[in-house]
Amino acid sequence: MPSLVFRKGLDLKHAVAGMLADNYHSALVDRIKGEDFTYRAGRLTLHLAREFGFCYGVDRAVDYAYQTRERFPDRNVFLTGEIIHNPHVNEKLRTMGVRFLSDDPAVVDRLTHDDVVILPAFGVTVEMLARLDRRGCTLVDTTCGSVLNVWKNVRRYAEGGYTSIIHGKVWHEETQATASQAVQYGGKYLVVLDRAESDLICDYIRRGGDASELAARFASAVSPGFEFDRDLERIGLANQTTMLMSESLEIGELVRTAMIDRYGDGAIGDRYQAFDTICSATQDRQDAVVALLRDTPVDLMIVIGGYNSSNTANLARICAASRPTFHIADPDCLASAQEIRHRPVGSKEELPATGWLPADGPVAIGLTSGASTPDNLVGATIARLAEFCG
Ligand code: SF4
Repeated sequence: MPSLVFRKGLDLKHAVAGMLADNYHSALVDRIKGEDFTYRAGRLTLHLAREFGFCYGVDRAVDYAYQTRERFPDRNVFLTGEIIHNPHVNEKLRTMGVRFLSDDPAVVDRLTHDDVVILPAFGVTVEMLARLDRRGCTLVDTTCGSVLNVWKNVRRYAEGGYTSIIHGKVWHEETQATASQAVQYGGKYLVVLDRAESDLICDYIRRGGDASELAARFASAVSPGFEFDRDLERIGLANQTTMLMSESLEIGELVRTAMIDRYGDGAIGDRYQAFDTICSATQDRQDAVVALLRDTPVDLMIVIGGYNSSNTANLARICAASRPTFHIADPDCLASAQEIRHRPVGSKEELPATGWLPADGPVAIGLTSGASTPDNLVGATIARLAEFCG
């Protein structure tokens, strides 16, 4: 029996609205938005970025997950993995009885048509979708439209004979799903993480070199059978939607210039294509924090979001370039006015630190949060800052 797929919700938006508000809303955050994104308490002046928190894709995915639970109270409901990169939201769904296939991947092959599986905002690979489809289970697809847009471009590259160079994190679910689209449509892909990796590729495009070295370096970041000699002759650029916009543009320009150097100006139209696939929500949050840092004198920045959230990590990178920055997962990371637990930019782990809050005098703190961070965590963080600052 083919899978039944829900892509536009389950007609229960109103039924779950109260629950969503109870779980993720913050009256304090609403109040601060209404007061020009500024909050004062004791010696604290807090400046909120003008765009932060849940993006449209996350909002929709969480809404659909709640609707699914409501619609199928007596059936097994699964997520393929984290619905979004926020531990609180995932934990909440667990308490509602939603199970995670990532806890035991073998369960996929035991699913039946009675089971319901929610696909996350960043999508799933073609292979995973085919496995679920073979089981005939009911699917609730929350893949964000901005991710579908990246897939559309990658498919177009594949069909046109272009290798997709994807600026992204090879371990990230969205990038894995995007890469699988290239293969599905007969194309090739190569994932580059940053400027340093794209420099290696650009050098090879210009001058050739030791392909085996590159093959070893990018072993887990290329499509099966990738040949560096053959598969870099025509390139289409795409990005994971949550990367740093400035870095994606820079990488695109580096690759374009390398292709011109190799094949000449006249051939570039046939050799290179690019579409900006950073999503507007990511862009808006990055622009807002850049504006806050530019226009407002703040002593330090707090960035709230899951440590595996790509867009949150990039907000922290932007802040750390000019201010002391503390990327925290939730309000509990603010242990006291002296102690904090945070993930420093570039580090893979959470670390303790002391002396993060100036001890005396007025203090101005800038605050933003990633696209998968609910407002209640932002509100609780602000309340704790207010407490520390009298
Ligand atoms: S970050 Fe962008 S692509 Fe990802 S879910 Fe949000 S809106 Fe969609």
